[in-house]
Amino acid sequence: MQHFDNLMNGRWVAAHDYVPNINPSDITDVVGRYAQSRPHDVDLAVMAAKEAFTTWSHSPILQRHDCLQKIATELLARKQELGNQLAREEGKTLPEAIGEVVRASQIFQFFAGECLRLSGECLPSVRANIQVDVTREPIGVIGLITPWNFPIAIPAWKIAPALAYGNSVVFKPSELTPGCAWALADIIHRSGLPAGVFNLVMGEGKDIGEALTHNPDVVAISFTGSTGVGRAIAAACAPLGKKLQLEMGGHNPQIILDDAELELAVELSVQSAFFSTGQRCTAASRLIVTDGIYPAFLQAMQVRMGQLKVGDARISGTDIGPVVSQGQLDTDMCFIQAAISQGAIVASGGALTQCHSASGARGFYLQPTLFTDTTTDMQINQEEVFGPVASILRVRNYEEALATANATAFGLSAGIATTSLKYASHFKRHSQAGMVMVNLATAGVDFHVPFGGRKASSYGAREQGRYAQEFFTAVKTAYTFA
Ligand code: NAD
Repeated sequence: MQHFDNLMNGRWVAAHDYVPNINPSDITDVVGRYAQSRPHDVDLAVMAAKEAFTTWSHSPILQRHDCLQKIATELLARKQELGNQLAREEGKTLPEAIGEVVRASQIFQFFAGECLRLSGECLPSVRANIQVDVTREPIGVIGLITPWNFPIAIPAWKIAPALAYGNSVVFKPSELTPGCAWALADIIHRSGLPAGVFNLVMGEGKDIGEALTHNPDVVAISFTGSTGVGRAIAAACAPLGKKLQLEMGGHNPQIILDDAELELAVELSVQSAFFSTGQRCTAASRLIVTDGIYPAFLQAMQVRMGQLKVGDARISGTDIGPVVSQGQLDTDMCFIQAAISQGAIVASGGALTQCHSASGARGFYLQPTLFTDTTTDMQINQEEVFGPVASILRVRNYEEALATANATAFGLSAGIATTSLKYASHFKRHSQAGMVMVNLATAGVDFHVPFGGRKASSYGAREQGRYAQEFFTAVKTAYTFA
């Protein structure tokens, strides 16, 4: 069984220990043994990144472009193999996993272009004979902490802008998906980047994540994960004056109005709630349905959900892969039991299941689960489950639907299915989410525009597209008297 090391200062470095990583579709399949680092490893990686920053921050933009372009090209060329690895390790279906690898390639390609589009402003001063330049500069060593649910795309949308704008990086991936992180690091390592500009340290959040957030030479942390951990990171970083970007949990609403096209509404609700096993921060977990369409919508949802095949992520025909881990499966089941005990009715699913194929693989399989008869104050409608579980909230009209959609601590993504321009326009303006979808699934975004939420879902500057420069650069204003 191969052992996978950390990447520090341009070399693969052995760790004091290694832990096995298993395939959630088949728990007898060990993906590999990955470095279990100690806080001291973080310090070594940060030292290397600090040293590398001195030259990388002044590196020619074409050098940066060429490295990022090379990474993009290799990701695309190996999309099948890397998609297979992602599906094996995380449990996303193979088509979804390949799509994620392609997305990561597009992100590196986009930021390769951004290297050549760096710009500033040159303004006249309010004083005579003085010129003002406003430019953007790299900020230093950045710690990147990522979750398991998009184990290649989320690292890509942090690493690519960090490097493009001239920063050095220490990357701490989720302990559940080190294989994808290692594969990405291997590609980055061979892209021609100078030693120490990019470093990978694998291990537990409480050891490695905390060591990264507390290290005084790390000037900024970009984190994606749960709201609880994000807030703990914020509490640790604020006294140290670190720049912070936190992308956190969601509890996204999908409104279905009486005038919606039924087939479209059902399809986008099923996609939003259950594809990628519901393990997307942008998944719709609250389907808010007005009275007139409710009976037809519920019946059509039950029929459509009955067609979904749950099983091994890499087997053709699987619609919904396994839950990522035993821990997450236990959490999902706790939420299901709590919803039932609070009066919610199971309209579909609600139990563990077997792989749909004859392979006999033992994995963390859960039926996509839909509740009816739920109310806003129930736990299921307030706390993020992060699994293939959604609830229906029945409402009288658009106004009640909007109020219900906003009645949560979160504000990441929100959708509405309607043929009314009036309601679509009003919802775009009055939804308290950072991203709004009209007649589209709540999950599914472009890579060249900003991504992020409001309220408990996000903190700090937006990710992706040109907006990424807000976090990964510092603005300098220079005055010249001539
Ligand atoms: P998590 O918060 O448990 O872990 C995220 C990362 O933080 C992991 O790498 C983990 O090791 C690390 N970590 C854990 N404790 C830490 C600590 N004390 N200090 C520093 N780092 C620590 O989240 P998860 O289970 O990996 O991912 C699921 C969560 O991520 C969900 O809440 C989901 O909504 C969220 N998410 C949000 C977005 C977004 O863009 N808003 C995208 C994807 C996932």
